[in-house]
Formats: sequence, C-alpha cells, structure tokens
Amino acid sequence: MKLSEIEQRIQQNWQSVQQEVNTATLATGCEPGGVRVIGVTKYVDAEWTAALVRAGCLDLGENRPQVLWKKAEHDGLQSGVRWHVIGHLQSNKVRRSLKYQPVIHSIDSERLLHRVATESSRAGHDTEVLLEVNISGDEEKTGMAADLIDQLLSQDLPQGVKVMGLMAMAGFGTDSNAAKRQFDEVRVLRDKLSVKSGRKLSELSMGMSGDYQQAIECGSTMVRIGSRLFDGLLDRTTGVAR
Ligand SMILES: *Cc1c(COP(=O)(O)O)cnc(C)c1O
Repeated sequence: MKLSEIEQRIQQNWQSVQQEVNTATLATGCEPGGVRVIGVTKYVDAEWTAALVRAGCLDLGENRPQVLWKKAEHDGLQSGVRWHVIGHLQSNKVRRSLKYQPVIHSIDSERLLHRVATESSRAGHDTEVLLEVNISGDEEKTGMAADLIDQLLSQDLPQGVKVMGLMAMAGFGTDSNAAKRQFDEVRVLRDKLSVKSGRKLSELSMGMSGDYQQAIECGSTMVRIGSRLFDGLLDRTTGVAR
C-alpha cells in the first residue's frame, strides 16, 4: 500500500470514529465534543502515528512507556499532542514519562500514585491522573479494588497529582451486554465516591474499539480507541501493521 493510501485510510477511519462518537454522545443528551477520543497507537510506528495526528487526533495513548518516549521525540509528534499513559507504569519509568506531561490513566496502586505525586512536585508541574479500577473482578486484569480506591480518596491526596476520575476496562471477552453492566457499575461507583469524598471525579476513561458506544451510553468521557482507527491496515491475526 502506498503511503498516501495509508494516510487517506487513517483519515477516513478517524472521521468515521468521530462521527460515531458524536452520534453516541448526542444520544446521551450531552454536547458533541464532550467525549474525548484517545487514539491508541500501540499497533503502529511513529510515521503512522503522525498520520493520525495530521488527520486531527491530538490525544494519543500508549501502553508502553518506552514507546511513548520514543514517539514523543519523533518529528511531527513533538508538539500539539497530548500523551496518555494507558498501561501499567513501573515506578522507575515515572520520572522519564513525566517529561512529556502525559495524562496517566493507569494508576493501579497507592504506591504509584505517590510516586507520580513526588516526581511531579519535583518537576514543578501537576499531573492529571485517573485511578484504574478493576471492575471485572478478573484476576488477570490490573487495577485497584473499589474498596481500595474508596480508602485512597478518603485520605488527603498528595500534592502534585490531580485525580480526574476513574479508568476501567471490561473483562476480557465480555459481550456487549456484560460490558455495559460493568461500565454502569463504574459510573455508579464514581458517583458514590464523588459524593462520599467531595471530589469531582469528572472523567471516566472507559470503552475501546469494540465497546466504546456502550461506554459512552454509560457516561464515559474518554474513549481509548486503537484498532478501529487502523481498520484495513492491520493484520487481523496479529494486530500489527502490515
Ligand atoms: C490497546 C488498548 C486499548 C485500545 O484497544 P482497541 O481494542 O484496539 O481499541 C485501550 N485501552 C488500553 C489500556 C489498551 O491497552
């Protein structure tokens, strides 16, 4: 495939995702544009990632910090992009990651929250974070139990982090009805914690390519969409760029 065809395909995919997101958002009675699309670029290289940015997607998510660092230094990705850390972040990768001032969706332990707070204070800027909740009860999945998040929010939060809300993933292989139930649970949990802690927790990061419409129905404000943006460009069996 020629580069111009790839570019065009990415552009079309971005536009149709945006349309679907806007339609789903309107259906909830919210303003279009109220849901932020995070383009998850873990399947593709920096060139294709830059093509997605040219198409208009300025929020990019990576689940591996080293890949994020590398892409963030790439021509065409150095400015205008808001980075999102969406996968497990090891403590020893916090400082380097903060250089790019990302939103961190995947705060999965109290220790990591404190580490991000300390390093942010040291760097002199606050970091926006979301607390990842393990809603599926899936042992394999990362994220904190709801009780632990409740406990965390009941204490004084450390300086250096702004807790914006919750992040969740539906259990692996859940059908859309089960996903919807889980997303509903997350919203209910957020509402409860918000009242109890007196914190706004306005963001809900949930929904991926297969379930983002359900997630938006359930109140998601940030959808993390990867494969759908690269439809027709990825090898179905491996999920990697052809
Ligand atoms: C890969 C990934 C996504 C995007 O998944 P798709 O199904 O490709 O849209 C979203 N969130 C996280 C945490 C991921 O690792």
